[in-house]
Amino acid sequence: MSKKAVFFLFLVVGLLVLLSGVGYADAPPLPEDHPQYVPGEVLLKLKVEAPAKQIAEINNTYQTQTVRHFDFIGVYHLRLPTNLSVTKALVVLQGHSLVEYVVPNSLHYLDVTAPNDPDGTYLWGLHNYGQNGGTPDADIDAPEAWDITTGNPSTVVAVIDSGADLGHDDLAANIWTNPGEIPDNGIDDDGNGYIDDMHGWDFTDDDNDPSPAGGVCNGHGSHTAGTIGAVGNNGIGVVGVNWNVKIMVLKAFKPFLGSCVSNSADEIAAIEYHTKMGVPVSSNSWGGRAFNSALRDAIRASHSVFAAAAGNDGQNNDTTPYYPSSFGLDNIISVAATNRNDGLASFSNYGPTSVDLAAPGVDIYSTLHLNNYGIKSGTSMATPHVAGVAALLLAQDPNLTIREIKWRILHGTDNVYLPVLTEGRLNAYEALQFGLSTPTLTVEVTPLGPTNVRAGDLVSYQVIATNNEASEIQFTGHIYARLQDGREFSLLYPTDFSLGSGNTISRTYTEQVPGNFAPGTTFRIYGQAETAMSFDEDWVAYTVVP
Ligand code: CA
Ligand code: CA
Ligand code: CA
Repeated sequence: MSKKAVFFLFLVVGLLVLLSGVGYADAPPLPEDHPQYVPGEVLLKLKVEAPAKQIAEINNTYQTQTVRHFDFIGVYHLRLPTNLSVTKALVVLQGHSLVEYVVPNSLHYLDVTAPNDPDGTYLWGLHNYGQNGGTPDADIDAPEAWDITTGNPSTVVAVIDSGADLGHDDLAANIWTNPGEIPDNGIDDDGNGYIDDMHGWDFTDDDNDPSPAGGVCNGHGSHTAGTIGAVGNNGIGVVGVNWNVKIMVLKAFKPFLGSCVSNSADEIAAIEYHTKMGVPVSSNSWGGRAFNSALRDAIRASHSVFAAAAGNDGQNNDTTPYYPSSFGLDNIISVAATNRNDGLASFSNYGPTSVDLAAPGVDIYSTLHLNNYGIKSGTSMATPHVAGVAALLLAQDPNLTIREIKWRILHGTDNVYLPVLTEGRLNAYEALQFGLSTPTLTVEVTPLGPTNVRAGDLVSYQVIATNNEASEIQFTGHIYARLQDGREFSLLYPTDFSLGSGNTISRTYTEQVPGNFAPGTTFRIYGQAETAMSFDEDWVAYTVVP
C-alpha cells in the first residue's frame, strides 16, 4: 500500500474508532464518600462538525441549555432541565443519532494528604544530605542541575490548581503576566476570550483574579507553584526547581461540600486557555477514578506536557485507573511519590505500566498564602517537581518536542526499584545531561514544496537520519502525522534501521492531504529516531488553505 493510502486509511480508522468508541459505559460508579459529578450538568460531543444547528435541535428536544462550547474539542457543556437527572440524561442523550458521546461533568479532588510534621527539614527533595533520617542523595540533584540551568524567565508553566498567592514575596517575580493584555480596561486586548486576564484566570468564579481559594483548599496551589518556581537567590524563603520561570495561575479548584473540588468543565476551560496561549507544560495535582472522554480529548489536544498526579489511595493504577494520570496519552507523565529514603510513599498510587516515575512527595516544604511557608505531602507535591524539570529542560532547549521532554525525564531517572514504569525517581541533573551533547542520532524533516496546502494535494518531504557516533548503530525510525486535535497516525510504522559511523540515511516520502480537511486545518509531520540511549524528533507544520 502506498504511503498516502496508509495516511488516509488511518484517518478513516481513527474516525471509526472515535465514532464507535465511548458513551454510557464511561459513566462513573455511583458516588462513594465524595460525589463523582456535578448534578444537573453533562458534557456532550456531537458527531457532526457543523454543530450550531444540531446543538439547537438537542437543546430544543431535551430542554437543555448550552453553558459553554469548547471549540478546540467540539464539546458542549450543557445544563439539564430539573426533571432530567444526569444518570437518565447519559442514557437518553447517548441514544440520539447526532451524539458522539455524553459524559458527566466529573468532579476531581486534590491529591494532597493532611499536612504533616511542621518541624520537617526543608527541601530534602531538591537536595538530600541525610537530614531528618533521610538517605543522602535520595533527591532530584537540583544543585547539580542548577550548574547547567536555573531556569528561564520566558518558560511558562500552567498550574491548574486552587489559585496561587500572586503577591507572595517568594512567588510574585515568577508569576506570568499576559504580554498582550492591558490591565483593568475592561477589554479583551489579546482577543483570547478573557477580559483583563493578566496572570491567568479563575475558572471557578469566572473572573480574572486567580488568587487562592481559602478554607479546605489550604494553600494547595501556592504550594505546588512554589515547588515549580519559588524565586531563587532572593535571600528569602525557599527555592523552586526553577529559580526563574513564569507560572500561569489557572484556578479550577474551590471549597465545595467540605472538600477542595474541581469539575471537568472548569478543567477543560483551563486546558483550553493554556493551549490557546501556547504554554508547553502544565502541572496537575488532582484526579479521580471516573473516566471522562471530554477531559481526555482536551488533554490530547493541548499540545503540551501534562504532568499528572498518580493519586493517594495506595493502590495499583494498572488495575484501578486514576484519571487524568491513567488516560494513557503520550503527552501525560504520571507521577507517584517517594519519601526521603527513596521508598514509595505509603499513600502513593503506583503502577508498573500506567505510572511513569516517582518524585519527592512526603514532607515537602513550599510557599503558602500570605507570605507563609509550610509542609505538605501527596502525589500533589511530587507532580510539580516533574513539571519543574520539564521547564528546566525547556530553559536548556526551548525547541524540545513534547516527546523529547518526556523521554529525557523518563530516561533520566535514578532506578530505585519502585513499582512504576521506569522503576525510577526523578533526577533533574540526569534529565539535563541529554542536552549537553549531540544525540547519538539526529533526525531532520524538510518539506519539499510549500507548507500551505490544499485538501487532496500531494505533499513531499525529506527525512534524514545521521549517526553521530564512531560506530555502527541500530535505531528505530518512525514517521507520524499529528492533527490539531492531538490524534496521531503513523505514516511509517516504527522500523529498525542500522547505520554506519558518521553515515546518513535520506528518504523522501509523499502523502496525500485528506480531501475532507477544511481550510484553516493545521497538522504536523514528525520524524523520530530512537535508540536505547538517544531520542530525537523533528517536524514540519502544514496549513490547509482554500
Ligand atoms: Ca484577554
Ligand atoms: Ca484588558
Ligand atoms: Ca526564595
